[in-house]
Amino acid sequence: MKKNSNIVESLAAGIIQGVRRDIAKAITLVESKSSRDQELSVKLIEKILPKTGKSIRIGISGPPGVGKSTLIEALGLRLIGKGKKIAVLAVDPSSVLTFGSILGDKTRMPNLSINSQAFVRPSPSSGILGGVTDSTRESILICEAAGFDIIIVETVGVGQSEFNVAQMVDTFIVLLQPFAGDELQGVKKGILEMVDVVVINKCDGELKEQAMKCCVDYTHALSLIKQNDKTKWVVPVLKVSALQQEGLSDLWLKIVEHTAFLKQINKKKSKRIAQDEQWFWEIVTKNLIAEIKQDKSKQYVLKTILAQINDRKISVLQVAKQFIHHSCD
Ligand code: GDP
Repeated sequence: MKKNSNIVESLAAGIIQGVRRDIAKAITLVESKSSRDQELSVKLIEKILPKTGKSIRIGISGPPGVGKSTLIEALGLRLIGKGKKIAVLAVDPSSVLTFGSILGDKTRMPNLSINSQAFVRPSPSSGILGGVTDSTRESILICEAAGFDIIIVETVGVGQSEFNVAQMVDTFIVLLQPFAGDELQGVKKGILEMVDVVVINKCDGELKEQAMKCCVDYTHALSLIKQNDKTKWVVPVLKVSALQQEGLSDLWLKIVEHTAFLKQINKKKSKRIAQDEQWFWEIVTKNLIAEIKQDKSKQYVLKTILAQINDRKISVLQVAKQFIHHSCD
């Protein structure tokens, strides 16, 4: 059996040379739940870290059927035409519904997935609604170290996933389609606070007229919302047709503009630092909770506390504070 350090060395070297098989293997490794694989993952990420950080990270979120894969395929191929290398960490929507990957992304993005300048990775949702896995951040770093210029993380706009994605990319795009009524359907208010670019897809055929109204409504809605980010970026609302490949150049221009804007106000670096801090706290919180739950010496106290909560003898807030106090002593 290959020694652990050899596995990490050879995977890291393969990633940095852009060897697709090694990139895929590395992503499988960081997705693995086995403790040996997790140890190897930590070493691997450490090894490739100096090679990371140079890509444009884009998040694309939207409900199933809105045209995410059609758009990513069309935009991706266009960017490859401009000499870029594209990685797509995509969720297979069937896996969200069935908790298993049925359609491969070969079916969803047929031309992009076979292009030598692209790497398309379906991420099984492993039960996480929206398909963003715990390891998406590591997968981004792997793709970055492999030299991809643009990394697209796609997510279905359900559950917590779009908030998670917004916190791991530079430019967060929400994809919508024209609606008939007055309501801003299917968009959570919190998302409009985090979005950098709104894209209305399917602006073609009969939907073209509706799209105009929709665009005005979203622009108005966005003007009323205080963005989380206290900068002066005005969130654009773009009309595109992924199917007819219209509006894609404008979309790319906006992404480039947003990247330049972040750099100009020194935000790209600080945004990534803040995202890494958030990631740090997520890992610490998750591991501390797991450790506490597994700690045999705490089982009796925990059992007693949970029984008291069940009997409604004590407030959850009070007992949680006491428990933390007790655990930190
Ligand atoms: P996803 O689930 O968000 O990835 O959506 P898909 O990309 O699979 O698209 C869902 C359906 O919408 C497919 O039948 C596409 O052909 C269609 N579609 C995607 N983009 C457009 C568009 O710009 N215009 C029109 N009319 N249909 C589109």
